[in-house]
Amino acid sequence: MLDADFFRRWMAATAASVDREAERLTQLDSPIGDADHGSNLHRGFAAVMAALETEAPDTPGAVLVLAGRQLISTVGGASGPLYGTLLRRTGKALGEAAEVGVEQFAAALRDGVEGVKKLGGAVAGDKTMIDALEPAVNALGDGFAAARQAAEQGAEATIPLQARKGRASYLGERSIGHQDPGATSSALLIAGLEAAAE
Ligand code: ADP
Ligand code: MG
Ligand code: MG
Repeated sequence: MLDADFFRRWMAATAASVDREAERLTQLDSPIGDADHGSNLHRGFAAVMAALETEAPDTPGAVLVLAGRQLISTVGGASGPLYGTLLRRTGKALGEAAEVGVEQFAAALRDGVEGVKKLGGAVAGDKTMIDALEPAVNALGDGFAAARQAAEQGAEATIPLQARKGRASYLGERSIGHQDPGATSSALLIAGLEAAAE
């Protein structure tokens, strides 16, 4: 079973890897974006960690709803409302349970991904975070390591794609040949699950 502490560790592991990879995320956002993805998420997850400390939410759902709210209010870019929606919707789907099973979490995360798709209008293959998140949710039934692998593969598979959503889509065919920054950070988020479970 996964308790509030597990979800706190998930956010902490993600904050740490976003910290570590901020420069790379910003570099990926340079040829097909505006070179701010690393700094956007760095600011967002720092706010998440600060809020988790002061507000000390005590259920899985409350941890994720609070984290989502922080991302929406502190990240200026497109990714803030999208990641915020992902975590908030996932949290809301978990309700007020003190502990949740992996299957329940997988269903909730699927709700969250649906929320992102609805908000941003992207589907798989549009070269966005959906290309990492959707395969990860589909693999979650096989465990956190399988979900991480699926997310990493999904992120790499964005390289030959032409972007159809977000800033990168303005480049048309010139977006081909670059890995999507948001899919890359989504793989970090999903990898955080495995780290939190250790
Ligand atoms: P901005 O583009 O506003 O500077 P970021 O650089 O923080 O925001 O985030 C860019 C990432 O957001 C992209 O790499 C992509 O994965 C994701 N993204 C952008 N628009 C959408 C969308 N409509 N649906 C899903 N993901 C999107
Ligand atoms: Mg950007
Ligand atoms: Mg920006």
